[in-house]
Amino acid sequence: MALSGSLCPLIGHRMSPAMGHNQESHPESNFRVPAIMNALEKMELTSKYRASEVIEIRNFRPASVEDIASVHSRAYVIGLEKAMSKASEEGIIFIEGSGPTYATATTFRESLVAAGAGISLVDSVAAASRISHNPPVGFALIRPPGHHAIPKGPMGFCVFGNVAVAARHAQRVHGLKRVLIIDFDVHHGNGTSDAFYDDPDIFFLSTHQDGSYPGTGKFEEVGQGSGEGTTLNLPLPGGSGDNAMRSVFEEVIAPCAQRFRPDIILVSAGYDAHVLDPLAGLQFSTDTFRALIGEPSSASQFDDPAILYEEPLTKVKQAIQRISAIHIPYSLQGTHSSALQSAKEAFVKPHNH
Ligand SMILES: [Zn+2]
Repeated sequence: MALSGSLCPLIGHRMSPAMGHNQESHPESNFRVPAIMNALEKMELTSKYRASEVIEIRNFRPASVEDIASVHSRAYVIGLEKAMSKASEEGIIFIEGSGPTYATATTFRESLVAAGAGISLVDSVAAASRISHNPPVGFALIRPPGHHAIPKGPMGFCVFGNVAVAARHAQRVHGLKRVLIIDFDVHHGNGTSDAFYDDPDIFFLSTHQDGSYPGTGKFEEVGQGSGEGTTLNLPLPGGSGDNAMRSVFEEVIAPCAQRFRPDIILVSAGYDAHVLDPLAGLQFSTDTFRALIGEPSSASQFDDPAILYEEPLTKVKQAIQRISAIHIPYSLQGTHSSALQSAKEAFVKPHNH
């Protein structure tokens, strides 16, 4: 999970590797955080090499049951805590009906730590923003993941909705009322979406591969009640890559952020849309992820351009047009007049050709 104000050289890391939460050969493995830390170390990107730019904070408060209950039902949270004794006896248990989400004896505690890392990151960025016009970018390197976990239970390898809990914390404790959550994981963040589906103050924007797990996140899912218009789903055709995401950023993400005028931006930063991810079919290169955080292109320093195949750009364009047509009327709500005017113009333009 990443979080940003505007870009500045200070980067805070919060880590929660959840080493006890693991199932052998499972794709969501406890090798994940150490692998990332090793890579950062090798590239000399840790505080050891960049003390003036990078702060790593390992001691932070785990989330409380109250924090988690701002998003999830208390029955689920208490039930999971109780299930830990069974997990201790059996080693591993399945907590999502017949689904794929497991728990071990440490899952409850480690999931509180993961959510606590997000909370602590919000605290740090909010504190730094009060003393600097140039707020820091923070990154919480955490597992178990969270964006599939629905308010009443776990789902899709996810235990607690880490980004959702962080969003509620930003509102409750820091008075950061309007929260934009961008989820660029290859899968739809259905749990985050469910948590805020009728909330006008939390704009949830998800890009994901069309047809991928869990099958939700259609264009027409726009929120409901007073939250109608503050959920935006952009399912991308399989094969979408850097060109697709550049267009999506310019034509959808940036205008939405400008119109919504968030007090804070949280990012559900799953990296499984990368071309080398074996489970999904998008082909973002490392350049796309760098561009999303405002870093200049590394000219494919990390990727082999030869592995990229042709993107379905006509389909991508159609997807962007479709979401623009669905969303512009909603996004006019609550905006000031100049944004209203430019949005109106944008809405009229597609009819000209
Ligand atoms: Zn994913």
